[in-house]
Amino acid sequence: MSNSYLIEGDDGLTLIDAGFPGKEAAVFGAIRGLGHSLDQLNHLIFTHGHPDHIGSAAAIVRETGARTYMHSLDIPMAESGGPFRPLRGAPGLLGQVLCRLFYQPDQRLEPVAIDQRLTPGETLPIAGGIEVIHTPGHCAGQVALLWHPGRMLFAGDVAANLMGLGDPVGFECLQEGRASQRKLASLSFDAAGFGHGQPIVRDASTRFRNKWGQKAPVT
Ligand SMILES: [Zn+2]
Ligand SMILES: [Zn+2]
Repeated sequence: MSNSYLIEGDDGLTLIDAGFPGKEAAVFGAIRGLGHSLDQLNHLIFTHGHPDHIGSAAAIVRETGARTYMHSLDIPMAESGGPFRPLRGAPGLLGQVLCRLFYQPDQRLEPVAIDQRLTPGETLPIAGGIEVIHTPGHCAGQVALLWHPGRMLFAGDVAANLMGLGDPVGFECLQEGRASQRKLASLSFDAAGFGHGQPIVRDASTRFRNKWGQKAPVT
């Protein structure tokens, strides 16, 4: 229901997002499946602080000792373990239904301490270079991560790719969310990974441009 991504670099392993609670075994299985030991997970970068992205973080950090990264606006949610800021369903009936079904702001999780604040515009010297792009709207502290050597964008919940490329389940602020989608549509990348839905493996920035680029109709 929620995606995490593992990057293999010269500097060890980097995990982007930590899934729902109770999913740490899936992450450990993926690390071992690549022939690595758990202590080779050096970095855990969060796109944002929602429960489906930080749920297993505390358990993962406990086993791996990974260093954690998040935008400062979401750190209080992660370090308190909830409650979470409310969301309004995305435009359309499906958004309203899915948001109510899958997002519970009153949820409580095991808190996770954040070691480093992400600064918009910085390129982290991790896995050959990961650029931090602030993309609020769905969540005030959300960032998208552009992994330069892989030409891959990790879009978090700026967008989802469930039934085609589209909106996430909900927004804190729709207007800011649209601005973030347009911001990503102005970048160049080959592949894109989402918090929810299938990755796009080629020509991904063209798909973003067609959907949210300058000439696309704004809905
Ligand atoms: Zn989210
Ligand atoms: Zn999510």
